[in-house]
Amino acid sequence: MKHGPRPNRYRDAWCGQLTAERSGTQARVAGWVHRRRDHGGLIFIDLRDRAGLLQLVFHPETSPEAHKAAHALRSEDVLTAVGTVVRREAQNVNPNIATGEIELSVTELEILDDAATPPFPVDEDVAVDESLRLKNRAVDLRRAAMLEALTIRHDAVATMRDVLNELDFLEIETPFLTRSTPEGARDFLVPARTQPGSFYALPQSPQLFKQLLMIGGMERYYQIVRCFRDEDARADRLPEFTQLDIEMAFVDEDDVIDTTEAVMGAVFERSGFDVAPPPWPRMTFAEAVGRFGSDRPDTRFGLELKDLGTAVTGSEFKVFSGALESGGVVRGINAGARELSRAELDALTELAKQHGAKGLVWAFVEPEGWRSPIAKFLSEREIAAINSRLETSAGDLLLIVADRATTAGQSLGALRLELSRRFGLIPEGRHDILWVVEFPMFMWHPEEERWDAEHHPFTAPSGDLDDPANLLSRSYDLVLDGNEIGGGSIRIHRRDVQERVFELIGMSADEAQARFGFLLDALGYGAPPHGGIAMGLDRVAALLAGRDNIREVIAFPKATSGGDPLTGAPAPVEPAQLRELGLRLS
Ligand code: ASP
Repeated sequence: MKHGPRPNRYRDAWCGQLTAERSGTQARVAGWVHRRRDHGGLIFIDLRDRAGLLQLVFHPETSPEAHKAAHALRSEDVLTAVGTVVRREAQNVNPNIATGEIELSVTELEILDDAATPPFPVDEDVAVDESLRLKNRAVDLRRAAMLEALTIRHDAVATMRDVLNELDFLEIETPFLTRSTPEGARDFLVPARTQPGSFYALPQSPQLFKQLLMIGGMERYYQIVRCFRDEDARADRLPEFTQLDIEMAFVDEDDVIDTTEAVMGAVFERSGFDVAPPPWPRMTFAEAVGRFGSDRPDTRFGLELKDLGTAVTGSEFKVFSGALESGGVVRGINAGARELSRAELDALTELAKQHGAKGLVWAFVEPEGWRSPIAKFLSEREIAAINSRLETSAGDLLLIVADRATTAGQSLGALRLELSRRFGLIPEGRHDILWVVEFPMFMWHPEEERWDAEHHPFTAPSGDLDDPANLLSRSYDLVLDGNEIGGGSIRIHRRDVQERVFELIGMSADEAQARFGFLLDALGYGAPPHGGIAMGLDRVAALLAGRDNIREVIAFPKATSGGDPLTGAPAPVEPAQLRELGLRLS
């Protein structure tokens, strides 16, 4: 804490900040009973406030009244106490806490609130069932790990604001009760009481508002903003999450990337996160997918994918030649010298299948050839060609997938990550950050026979709109240790181009006008070229705090079920409320 508390009837100093310099003086402190010990008539209390711990000592002879009251103290009771700061005897100094050289010899004690036995210990870093923690979040927040995580998050946000304010950005709020903003997820809907049958949508992002702010001449906007997407929660995705949202006018990719590097570079530096300073390397989508089987490549370890097409063209082995003939690929990784049991190989095959592959070919390189169920189907020349492509040595395990390019990439990419975890291939403490650029503009939706925007439909294309299959988009993602921590794009700023993109994704002109007429009209009144980005704050904070789970850096997160164990939301409502909204449950 930078400043002492304003002295009042509860305290005039922070527990965690009293030091030997104050010995001999009086202090008043307040906080929670962290721990209690009795020693030959003396009672010791570790008192906790946000600044840290302070040892209180109660002497039966010198302060009989306070000592008597202290008998009643139990963990998590809330108190205020006055006493004299005294140096501890040398053998009692506790080097583990900042106030370990002193203690407060208490003369007056007032118990402010009596605590029931907490549902789990606050003073120890023991594993506690997450739903119990979320249900008793007020108690859980008292644990040191939560304070540390929320402080790291706060510091990151403060740095973001500092840097952007310095760069003349304006922080502007955008509405929560709005219309659907397509980011590719399901909307949360809010029924409108004043217009029965109509609904607001909670924003999946402030995308359209920030574009309107640019058309409105605000030039540089940012917001630390909540976004809502009605998707199934996962470890790295919750139905509501927070973004640092940025938009700039009259800019190209380099301007947005440069600004983001200034912001995020400062965030990493100030939090002591050990990642290379900007500028950060850029990798095209095609290279990321080709080498790592992912558009958010984890480059901290090797095991890169190699194309084996030329090694097996015209092979007798139909799995390989068939895939190639139907326009697919044969790709593999050299997993290095590893012994895996048959059951473990079956588990890897299962993982490849979960990512859409029809199967997985495995082979161990031995001096005389391959040990593999498919060795007998391949010629010596083919085996030699694959070995040379994968740069093998004796003992290496090879994993090969023959499939459509995306399926082969995704399944090998997943195997690569699984092997890195299993064999601990990521060097301790190493962090890699990079930009992925030149994404495809569209993905083909075979079921609906239409194109879908890979980023969102407001992203500017780069290339010929009449050739959607080969069109790239002017978007960019920031990837840290294999996590997409941010993404954005240069936007479409011309009405005709926006209309054409809506048309390509299967939206009729009438529908486009009905849903996005406000944007199209605004574009028609003179829009500057503009672009921006959004950083996922929850993930960034989790990485900075070294937590796997983003719920660890959110004060009141939803559980994986999407529900809130604390308040019980979502919950049924009174029939009268439904009537008022013009709703009936089916
Ligand atoms: N609105 C986008 C998102 O939420 C980010 C952007 O394009 O700026 O992912």
